[in-house]
Amino acid sequence: MNKTTIYTSLGLTPQVLKFGEEIEASLKDRFEVIDERAEYNQLKVIKAMQKNRVSDIHFAATTGYGYNDLGRDTLEKVYASVFEAESALVRPQLMSGTHALHIALSGNLRPGDQLLSPNGKPYDTLEEVIGIRESPGSLKEYGVTYRQVDLRPDGSFDFDGIAKAINEKTKLMTIQRSKGYAVRPTFSVDQIGEVIAFAKKIKPDLICMVDNCYGEFVELTEPTQVGADMAVGSLIKNPGGGLAPIGGYIVGRKDCVDRAAFRLSAPGLGREVGASLGLNQSLYQGLFLSPTVVAGALKGAIFAANIYEKLGFAVVPDSKEERHDIIQSITFGTPEGVVAFCQGIQAAAPVDSFVTPEPWDMPGYDAPVIMAAGAFVQGSSIELSADGPIKPPYAVYFQGGLTWYHAKLGILMSLQKLCDAGLTGLTPKNITPKPQPPCRRQ
Ligand SMILES: *Cc1c(COP(=O)(O)O)cnc(C)c1O
Repeated sequence: MNKTTIYTSLGLTPQVLKFGEEIEASLKDRFEVIDERAEYNQLKVIKAMQKNRVSDIHFAATTGYGYNDLGRDTLEKVYASVFEAESALVRPQLMSGTHALHIALSGNLRPGDQLLSPNGKPYDTLEEVIGIRESPGSLKEYGVTYRQVDLRPDGSFDFDGIAKAINEKTKLMTIQRSKGYAVRPTFSVDQIGEVIAFAKKIKPDLICMVDNCYGEFVELTEPTQVGADMAVGSLIKNPGGGLAPIGGYIVGRKDCVDRAAFRLSAPGLGREVGASLGLNQSLYQGLFLSPTVVAGALKGAIFAANIYEKLGFAVVPDSKEERHDIIQSITFGTPEGVVAFCQGIQAAAPVDSFVTPEPWDMPGYDAPVIMAAGAFVQGSSIELSADGPIKPPYAVYFQGGLTWYHAKLGILMSLQKLCDAGLTGLTPKNITPKPQPPCRRQ
């Protein structure tokens, strides 16, 4: 069986495959740049592991209180080295990105303090953490006020607005690197460095925190290298490399990370407790693989942008743009397009490929949502995954792929499903290709 035969047996028509491979061939130079960055970041991780003398004893499990968990403490030193930061908290007890962000914020804010967002509304789940949407236990309930400065229409920081918003109460500025589900560009590490430098000029003791979700290892540097006092993220996204089964991290200035640790466990206990329960090896190995996994995910995102842009759909980022995170959005303009795309991603999965995702009324959303996820780790979005709310403009957000080859198959399967549904100019399955260019949108 040759490669084409396997693709065909997985459900792709030769025409879709050919279309995809032509696009792939046109992306050689861009893929090379991604590989070079991955090489750099791979070396950075290896160097950090060598510097901190990682050894097989660090993979041993601890239980109970987890005092003197050498593997955990060394992993935290490795993260600190990778991010060029003083300190890190990397724990399975940080249950998700939202939890890590909550701990970083609530550990460092006190009653009467004000939290500032310079990029408008933060990620959805943070609205309840902050108290923008009322929720028991929010920062608002603890007397922390919140202020935001919206981005300018072109998606850039409103520096004048930020200068006006910073006052004697402003204690912490939280910057969200990735666009999340918003329609604005993702910030580069350089842009983040600029806004931090600007704010610290006005208020030198302002704590600057970056929600680093989906950004790790996309560039050569991380926000902690351009002035961020803390960077925070999830281990079931980029830095877990697909192997971490749970966890979050907070890296940065020692006093900030320590305060977060006291909030995570208890005052007086801080980072001294928290058994690693045998997960250390996966967290180390996941970090080790992360630079190449992120490279695969980036190639997938760029591949999809080029395919769907060529077929006439709106894509963000576009086919040529520089990448600062691994998220790709595609606007299909119809519910059928969103559904077909997600069903294609699911059909290409190594796990649960036989399941057909359908839109459902998910709690917390104002429209039915369809999700595709055939993942080894539940909810992992460094694995190939997609979701889209069934409402205008009918866009899907997709990300991940532990390998480029899987991302490629997933995107080609999504295209196949769209073709089968007659939603692209490509010829549906089982119909002899017509002698016309296969890539026009109907
Ligand atoms: C995913 C994400 C979060 C929240 O992480 P969860 O692990 O889903 O709780 C926060 N901010 C951004 C930008 C994200 O992408």
